[in-house]
Amino acid sequence: MICVLAGGVGAARFLRGLIQVVPAADITAIVNTGDDTILHGLNISPDLDTVTYTLANAIDPVRGWGLENESWTAMGALARFVDARPQGSSAAPTWFNLGDKDLATHFYRTARLSEGATLAQVTTEICKSFGVDVHLVPMTNDRVSTVVTLAQDCAAGSAGTEITFQEYFVKHQHSVAVRNVHFAGASTASALGLDALSSAQTIVIAPSNPLVSIAPLRALQGVDAALSKRRDSVVAISPIIAGAALKGPADRLMTELGHECSVVGVAKLYAPICGTLVIDSADAHLAQHVEAQGMRCVVADTVMSTPAKSQNLARVTLENAT
Ligand code: GDP
Ligand code: CA
Repeated sequence: MICVLAGGVGAARFLRGLIQVVPAADITAIVNTGDDTILHGLNISPDLDTVTYTLANAIDPVRGWGLENESWTAMGALARFVDARPQGSSAAPTWFNLGDKDLATHFYRTARLSEGATLAQVTTEICKSFGVDVHLVPMTNDRVSTVVTLAQDCAAGSAGTEITFQEYFVKHQHSVAVRNVHFAGASTASALGLDALSSAQTIVIAPSNPLVSIAPLRALQGVDAALSKRRDSVVAISPIIAGAALKGPADRLMTELGHECSVVGVAKLYAPICGTLVIDSADAHLAQHVEAQGMRCVVADTVMSTPAKSQNLARVTLENAT
């Protein structure tokens, strides 16, 4: 069994290649839930859904999130309530787009959770309904929330305002400077997938954001310990290429939170838990600096712009996981 530590888009692209190389049923992906939020009273798990929709070949290829052939009738109908809602109410939020078909996933998840099912159980059911055979495991059944502290005043807020990850990522389009990130609830949450972390033949840290996708998993008790114990068979793929993220705020967050924004910065973050780092050909000149962090370094084409490239990266990654 191969175990993959996963965020959203970067992980989903890697997993779509991995299922071409090993049977989907032999893959367990432990997925970040720090991005999870409640909107309209609905439980939303963006990273789980991105991975599920991608593996089901149902993701919108242009947006990179949500379902393809989506309609937006419900979101449009919310607009009438915006003027009616009293001050201070967060009802009818329109800053977070939820397509009509996507809403059905959140309806189902919310209904099952309210019946007493765990997030892990509901995730298995949603995967089954989408025909996804990869075993997707939320990092915990408990509530853990990624909280972002802004570096400066944010609109009416004061210095050091704390906002939820989705407010940072979607409402502010990650264009505000960040001073700190923490994972509320992580110290008491119980991690899922620890058995997979000890029994997997190989563990892959997907090319996901190290600070807001992989860090929440690592914040859970037992995860770093399980990884460091067997770091020789843990291989990571850098989401930073030529000093930049392909998408999203990973590069700015690295700098803002005091890390070197390069494959060497990624190596420093992962060296305690991971024996091998796969870096892009564009960073080949930094391979010896990665190795100076005590990791093996593999140079490969890591931009997964097509399914074939995802498959090739998955193959190279597994070949170099010893
Ligand atoms: P999110 O939760 O949807 O933001 O996604 P992730 O945390 O899984 O992935 C975001 C990171 O994936 C960004 O830092 C991107 O640079 C990285 N990423 C996305 N696509 C690719 C790719 O094709 N190759 C590599 N190496 N990194 C990628
Ligand atoms: Ca995410």
